[in-house]
Amino acid sequence: MTTKWVYDFGGGASDGDASMKNLLGGKGANLAEMARLGLPVPPGFTITTEVCTVFYDLRKKYPAGLDAQVEAALAMLETKTGKTFGDTNNPLLVSVRSGSRASMPGMMDTVLNLGLNDETAEGLAVLSGDRRFAYDSYRRFIQMYSSVVLDVPDDVFEHILDDYKESNDLRFDTELGAESWREVIEQYKKAIDKRRGRPFPQEPKDQLWGAIGAVFSSWMNDRAATYRRLNDIPQSWGTAVNVQAMVFGNMGESSATGVAFTRDPGTGEKRFYGEYLLNAQGEDVVAGSRTPAPISRARQAELKSDDTSLEEAMPAIYKELTEVAERLETHYRDMQDIEFTVEQGVLYMLQTRSGKRTAQAALKLAVEMCREGLISREEAILRLDPAQLDQLLHPAISEDAVRDIFVKGLPASPGAAVGQIVFDSAEAVLLAQAGKAVILVRMETSPEDINGMHAAKAIVTARGGMTSHAAVVARGMGRPCVCGAGALQIDSERGVVRVGSRTLRRGDVITVDGAKGQVLVGAVKMVEPMMTGEFGELMTWADGVRRLRVRANAETPLDAATARRFGADGIGLCRTEHMFFDAARIPVVREMILADSEKGRRRALDKLAPMQRSDFTEIFRIMAGLPVTIRLLDPPLHEFLPHTAADIAEVARQSGVAIELLAARARELHESNPMLGHRGCRLGITYPEIYEMQARAVFEAALDVARETGKAPVVEVMIPLVATRRELQLMRERVVAMAERVFQERKAQIDYLVGAMIELPRAALRAGDIAEEADFFSFGTNDLTQTALGISRDDAARFLKVYEERAIYERDPFVTIDRIGVGELVRIGCARGLAVRPNLKLGVCGEHGGDPASIYFFEEVGLDYVSCSPYRVPVARLAAAHAVLKKAR
Ligand code: ADP
Ligand code: MG
Ligand code: MG
Repeated sequence: MTTKWVYDFGGGASDGDASMKNLLGGKGANLAEMARLGLPVPPGFTITTEVCTVFYDLRKKYPAGLDAQVEAALAMLETKTGKTFGDTNNPLLVSVRSGSRASMPGMMDTVLNLGLNDETAEGLAVLSGDRRFAYDSYRRFIQMYSSVVLDVPDDVFEHILDDYKESNDLRFDTELGAESWREVIEQYKKAIDKRRGRPFPQEPKDQLWGAIGAVFSSWMNDRAATYRRLNDIPQSWGTAVNVQAMVFGNMGESSATGVAFTRDPGTGEKRFYGEYLLNAQGEDVVAGSRTPAPISRARQAELKSDDTSLEEAMPAIYKELTEVAERLETHYRDMQDIEFTVEQGVLYMLQTRSGKRTAQAALKLAVEMCREGLISREEAILRLDPAQLDQLLHPAISEDAVRDIFVKGLPASPGAAVGQIVFDSAEAVLLAQAGKAVILVRMETSPEDINGMHAAKAIVTARGGMTSHAAVVARGMGRPCVCGAGALQIDSERGVVRVGSRTLRRGDVITVDGAKGQVLVGAVKMVEPMMTGEFGELMTWADGVRRLRVRANAETPLDAATARRFGADGIGLCRTEHMFFDAARIPVVREMILADSEKGRRRALDKLAPMQRSDFTEIFRIMAGLPVTIRLLDPPLHEFLPHTAADIAEVARQSGVAIELLAARARELHESNPMLGHRGCRLGITYPEIYEMQARAVFEAALDVARETGKAPVVEVMIPLVATRRELQLMRERVVAMAERVFQERKAQIDYLVGAMIELPRAALRAGDIAEEADFFSFGTNDLTQTALGISRDDAARFLKVYEERAIYERDPFVTIDRIGVGELVRIGCARGLAVRPNLKLGVCGEHGGDPASIYFFEEVGLDYVSCSPYRVPVARLAAAHAVLKKAR
């Protein structure tokens, strides 16, 4: 049997339908489907995507038999239209349109009016009784065909036309009559001949094959290849070619062309929405040479436009079009983006597809279509992309705002904010306290900047990637952030920041667009996040479907409250060190670090204990009855000491400690590789009194809250950076002993768990031993990624981009978990842990916990929960529901 390479559509019979997108491309499949529905589609045929694949396999040759099948389809098209290709009296004209499975900008532009030559143009003139129309169509065809098929640039034609108009004293194209266009056409042809050494092809069949070849060739052009890479579209998909009988929207005032959406793609509102042009061909609407008018009367009134709406200009057509739109929407059960043309009072449909939409519209559409009974709840959940949801949770820059871009960087944390520039965290805090909106601009940030970052409305850094300190903390706090804006030259001493020749100063107002990674000059118009009923409704549906619990990483009462507001099921990571950075506490923390004996350390720790207890009390209150995982101290102690000579002097002055002592201690604590240094449970092993103080604070706070509210928190004490069973065993003994002591003192007790953070490859491999001592595992996939790949995330930005481009790692492994490497360690850890302790609780904390693609993986592995920053909780809830639904499909 011979392969079918060509599928007919329209004119009463279609070979294909909407289910054949892979073979016919989106455009071809939907044209066939619309024709099947009995809608007015100009007939045509589709050359399949398989031909494209074979074309490249055969080094740009067509498969045997294609020729004959195209001939047959052309003959069929002639029968359906009653016209003949290349016939002088009644010529068939066609459009040649590309169309892959996924809609893809960057491919060949459509060629209209193909089949015109010196003779058929005359035929068209006679047939239409309009010579100007015929020559106008011909000159458009020559220009389009030459630019997309023959590589003759547009400006060649524009120059000729401009010169012609100038020497004939004409200003607008509309002033050129039939004869003028004929003269212009002669000049066009001469120019092509001169450039190419060959005349413009007069034979319609040659024109057709030229256009078909250009569509297939465009599949491999740079623009298309780049777009495919960015959007994960495999090269093997190929593109189809659609050849379709022309209908003319440029045959006078009873003709028109336009595009429409069945609902508003910006807001999701149920109202017909679109634009059109009278007496025009398709490309005029997009080319922007004429401004299209609104389709509906309502929209025209809203825009206070002087144009006449289609509803007024052609009421019958408008009515028919709205009926078609409704039918298409019901049929496809989704908002449609449609293209149409009216030829002398007759409506034709030229395209339909699911319309692109904003996050806000996606949400409204999904919920309303479910209420209307058009789609099920599961489908409604799947219609909203979790990654897109992020846009709804932060203020955003208004669509119509004018952007004066100062610098571009990485879109590290979404949302937008306006404020004045500050270069220093302390200043940020002071100004914020005075009620000013500030934006912190720095080379990079460190844990000492926490307060400044919190005080700021947004953060901008010149260095660092998507998982740099600034990015991670900003996402956690829900602050918009642009990172790695390398063009920034910051001179904080002078209080200026430069990009090239432009300079801004301390106090100047900027706007940060964290979603786009842009820093804009001045205050730009914003819109508030939408947290309306539809949002809540869809999230409730998602909660009904998901299996994974979603917790938040939160260490302040504010974060905890945000997490609850966003529907967190508890806290999966409460980092206790953040509490130590508080301005009131850091002197006491330093006192502890500077002490030269255990006794001295305990004295300082006694002062810290009540503060730490009150932190936990507040968090337990907010989380009433929900699990809270508290991670004991993790970072190396030197992070709490000043580093520069000036800072050391300042701290020494404030705390009354000798400068030399402070400097010496800072030197002593210095490590050449702190990430792998004296940190995590290694601190607990060497200074057990620190963990003891923290454990006491936890249990006392838990008992306080249990007594006060009658609801005991579910306390989970987590030991960081465990590598061996013995480490955990020692730490567990201390924690349990402290719990017993507190319970005895208070004559009350609560349930609690002790577990390990699994963030070292050894811990994952030896998970069986470690599970002997652990009630739960929480995979710390940030550090696990660093230690498994041997890549420091703070230094990764310099080479990871190249790694992604070369497809060494498909995605940034700090954003989406490296499934087959780091993910394998997670799988092994779970399996070996569960084998020893079947009721072992399993979770993940770290940036991957809020990343949809990683969440699909965690669902697969069967974790109990994910934990992410509070602002990502809704994203994770939705992604967890998607994970279940996609698995079932
Ligand atoms: P794109 O994929 O860029 O949207 P299309 O193939 O849809 O390109 O073509 C763009 C426009 O060209 C269409 O919206 C339509 O207005 C016009 N067009 C395409 N084919 C025809 C045709 N057979 N008759 C009239 N106009 C057409
Ligand atoms: Mg189109
Ligand atoms: Mg860690």
